[in-house]
Amino acid sequence: MSDTPTQNERVKCLIIGSGPAGYTAAIYAARANLSPVLYEGIQPGGQLTTTTDIENFPGYPDGVSGTQLMEDCRKQAERFGTDIRMGTATAADLSSAPYKITIEGHKVIEADTLIISTGATAKYLGIPDETKYAGMGVSACATCDGFFYRKKVVAVVGGGDTACEEAIYLAGLAKQVYMIVRKPYLRASKVMQERVMNTPNITILFEHNTIGLYGEGGVEGAHLVKRMGEKDETRVDIAIDGFFLAIGHHPNSTIFKDYLETDEVGYIKTIGNTPKTSIPGVFAAGDVADPIYRQAITAAGSGCKAAIEAERYLAEMGEMLPPQ
Ligand code: NDP
Repeated sequence: MSDTPTQNERVKCLIIGSGPAGYTAAIYAARANLSPVLYEGIQPGGQLTTTTDIENFPGYPDGVSGTQLMEDCRKQAERFGTDIRMGTATAADLSSAPYKITIEGHKVIEADTLIISTGATAKYLGIPDETKYAGMGVSACATCDGFFYRKKVVAVVGGGDTACEEAIYLAGLAKQVYMIVRKPYLRASKVMQERVMNTPNITILFEHNTIGLYGEGGVEGAHLVKRMGEKDETRVDIAIDGFFLAIGHHPNSTIFKDYLETDEVGYIKTIGNTPKTSIPGVFAAGDVADPIYRQAITAAGSGCKAAIEAERYLAEMGEMLPPQ
């Protein structure tokens, strides 16, 4: 098949995204002879490649690094013949089958079945200083950027499992870690809370919100407000070298929103306990469709379901699809 920009390519099963959902879908689809093509997206391996050890994925009694786990999944998908390609889906036309997905703005893939496993992306607070200091002290990935803050002082925003995990990871590198938590308690699981509490160089600033950052040519500190909106509201500045966001993620569903129903946040709605969307032959798996569990293992499970459903759909529609 030619790779010229003007010629469309037709595939039986197109998978977008390379996290646990995408790779698991690829393993099942390849073993079912669907000859899947998988586009990796902006972050090959997905969110797990930005985390540290995974201790809750079954089969790894001693834990496994996120990068290793995804590398193993990739190899397993390749072993059964998945065509794994670099590239990001930039537009979608799901008005009729075959579904048309544009890659990097020019190459169009026509897919008889589509598995959307595009995951979710880190959220930012939305304050202008995050943009001002992007790459100069502001980060949403401790494992990617923590190395630059050895023996320095950093802050992590958020009180969930991600924030705790990032804070603990950074505490192993940095001199001092502040956790900036807007509520008077952590939302994280008990085990993560205990680990944070038992890490001597983590200080939790409960009931604090960030309103700005300051520094010449890079972050040197953060402007915080304690008990914002209350009578005893007070302003506090902390001197920091790095500012890490860990306040959750938003689903990567934008290019599909004209065709697929989403919830108010943007998570793709699926039918019942299946990865089926409102469009036959289009499936959504993993974090892009999961506002509740958002775990590697649940993403992998839904990727498996999506591939099985794609196979069934193709078997049922086989006679009706135009010849390849
Ligand atoms: P969560 O949604 O669980 O937590 C987000 C945190 O950020 C909350 O403390 C929230 O505060 C805070 N927050 C959100 N918006 C703002 C804002 N604008 N300003 C200040 N603070 C804000 O996201 P996580 O990424 O932590 O976790 C997502 C899911 O992944 C969870 O189900 C979690 O359990 C799971 N996870 C599991 C891990 C593991 O098992 N090893 C590791 C990481 C994640 P508030 O509480 O006030 O809303």
